[in-house]
Amino acid sequence: MRSPTSFRIGIGAAVILLLVAAAVYLAREAATGAGREFGSRFDGERAYADVLTQTEFGPRPSGSPAHAQTIAWLVESLGAAGWEAEIQELSIEGQTVKNVIARRGAGPEWIILGAHYDTRLLADEDPDPARRAEPVLGANDGASGVAVLLELARVLPKDPGKEIWLAFFDAEDNGRIPGWDWILGSRAFVDALAGRPSAAVIVDMVGDADLQLYQERNSDPILTEQIWAMAARLGYTQFIPEPKFSMLDDHTPFVQAGIPAVDIIDFDYPYWHTTADTAEKVSAESLEAVGATLLAWLLGE
Ligand SMILES: [Zn+2]
Repeated sequence: MRSPTSFRIGIGAAVILLLVAAAVYLAREAATGAGREFGSRFDGERAYADVLTQTEFGPRPSGSPAHAQTIAWLVESLGAAGWEAEIQELSIEGQTVKNVIARRGAGPEWIILGAHYDTRLLADEDPDPARRAEPVLGANDGASGVAVLLELARVLPKDPGKEIWLAFFDAEDNGRIPGWDWILGSRAFVDALAGRPSAAVIVDMVGDADLQLYQERNSDPILTEQIWAMAARLGYTQFIPEPKFSMLDDHTPFVQAGIPAVDIIDFDYPYWHTTADTAEKVSAESLEAVGATLLAWLLGE
């Protein structure tokens, strides 16, 4: 038999349940609303899969079949992420370079994000002299920066409120080899550039599982401060707010042209220009620290 008291308790329980359901619904709406506002999250595992894809192509020095395969894969992957990519073919110092460029958005700011996709012809830093004529696989030196840019391509909003270019540079890494020089792709790119971007951000060797990103001394100090401060806000201790190395890298032609540019690079990488620059040295966590920091910086979170 039902007493009036238990009936009242039943009503009370139903009201509480309804309130809980409404609170859960509102909280979920708020969360997805925030997601829409700031873009999706950068997925380190998905970026790491892009490192594996590139290393499975093999070493990717300029002009090799694996290099051509990488270009086709970049154009296809960018297309799948909703970006139209263009192959920019240029001549510089007797070499033909092929940069892959994708563009999105409009606004007062124009940001270029760059990474080199070629790998070095020779592993001339290999501890084994017999292996120094072999090519570098470039899991970190090449594939990691490309992977960060590609995952950013997937998670950046359709209208980021500014003009963003993703620039995949060719022929960065053949300096001190006869017939070549360093940073050919980015130099040709800056030579051909019409207009003045607000900033260029280069990512190179950003995948080391033991990642320490010291500030690079030739980089623009304001950009450097902004990006390292964002990493600190997000809790990414891989970014160490102290200067260490001075690099010649794909940011150099921008710096020389008076364009504010920053090089995000971990040059304490024991496998640099050796045959041991392989995918197991790279981690999804490191790629995510860099990618999530850049995403937040780009979107002004
Ligand atoms: Zn290199």
